[in-house]
Amino acid sequence: EAARLYLGLDFGTSGARFAIIDKDGIIQAEAKREYPLYLNGESQDWVRSWKETLFSLLEDVPLDIRKHVVSISIDGTSATTIIVDSYTGEPLWRPFLYNESCSDALPIVKSFAPPNHTVCTGSSTLCKLVSWWNHVGSDKKPALLLHQADWLLWLLHGKLGVTDYNNALKVGYDPEMDSYPSWLICQPYYHLLPSVLAPGTPIACLKEEIGNKYGFQKSCVVCTGTTDSIAAFLAARATQPGKAVTSLGSTLAIKLLSNTRIEDSRFGVYSHRLDDKWLVGGASNTGGAILRQLFTDNQLEKLSEQINPSQPSLLDYYPLPKAGERFPVADPNLAPRLHPRPENDVEYLHGILESIARIEAKAYELLKELGATQVEEVFTAGGGAKNEKWIKIRERVLGLPVSRANQTEAAYGAALLAKKGDQQNIFS
Ligand code: ADP
Repeated sequence: EAARLYLGLDFGTSGARFAIIDKDGIIQAEAKREYPLYLNGESQDWVRSWKETLFSLLEDVPLDIRKHVVSISIDGTSATTIIVDSYTGEPLWRPFLYNESCSDALPIVKSFAPPNHTVCTGSSTLCKLVSWWNHVGSDKKPALLLHQADWLLWLLHGKLGVTDYNNALKVGYDPEMDSYPSWLICQPYYHLLPSVLAPGTPIACLKEEIGNKYGFQKSCVVCTGTTDSIAAFLAARATQPGKAVTSLGSTLAIKLLSNTRIEDSRFGVYSHRLDDKWLVGGASNTGGAILRQLFTDNQLEKLSEQINPSQPSLLDYYPLPKAGERFPVADPNLAPRLHPRPENDVEYLHGILESIARIEAKAYELLKELGATQVEEVFTAGGGAKNEKWIKIRERVLGLPVSRANQTEAAYGAALLAKKGDQQNIFS
């Protein structure tokens, strides 16, 4: 029997990657591309850049394995929004980037959305849509809203107007009801919204001309995607409720698979749907940023080697790059606490790593108090994941098994979605 391979593509903030896995999840090929710079007047032509990167990555797939790829999926940055012509699929406007804020639309959105809903922030997809609609949209050609991943997937399958319920969350889709809410349906731009499927659902076969040009099978299927941070969570394969991923990058972000859905805007805690479970997430401002201010990565490594992780540090810090915290303490004025600083840097680092571990423990504790499934095991991603001593400290402070995630690349998570799609493929 010929190998069945699954292609996942990740369009992140700084570049794009692909990963190809087999049925056992073993990586058969992977590669990375930076986004090429195309200027359109003063600003970067992102749509052109993403499109070229997509096809460059397809060319990077080794020739001999292309014909074995049976399913493809893509993740993109959350809330990156493209308004396209609903007949041609061509963008009608430059894309709104994930972190762009449309504060002009915020009061309007707040006037009809439920209080504290995820759409009630200037960078939400809905604020972008409302801003576009009010400035240019309402008298223009028939238009359609797509997220970055949807649009890139469309280039591959050609069926316009499809998204997934992870990308659709920030435009207001209700993943529990599995529909757009009535407060959105009654808006004049409702007809711009794409139809919504579960992530990793087959949409259509790969366009024939693309299959022929690159040497992919005619029956290769293209599946709905997700957001980049959910794809990164999927990569860690924390598939049971109670399994969690802590990301130790510049900030500390935790994601816990739960049987229950948790939302609490005070702490910026919200849940994404993953089939019949919920992915509960929250992010603290503590994390690696402060470590980087104090130590080089090399120093971190050398000093960490000398830490005895079984010995508790009594230094009680709240490391923050600047005042203000959201989760697990909601206090916009919380001051960073990094004193007293001992003479010995090993002791100092030990105190900081242990203090961050206490914040992590408090974060999981809070999710439980808010009603989430109790955490049982923690996988770790991000730059801090390679620190074995920190893992030991965290095991002691959390009282849980902690390990480094085997896979952390979002592209790997997207490949798992492609695999999921293959299992329910009705097209082949
Ligand atoms: P980003 O959120 O910027 O993508 P990364 O996941 O690349 O962050 O992680 C970078 C962070 O990891 C830096 O803030 C750095 O201080 C931290 N880091 C690097 N090496 C270590 C180490 N050995 N122990 C703990 N933290 C580390």
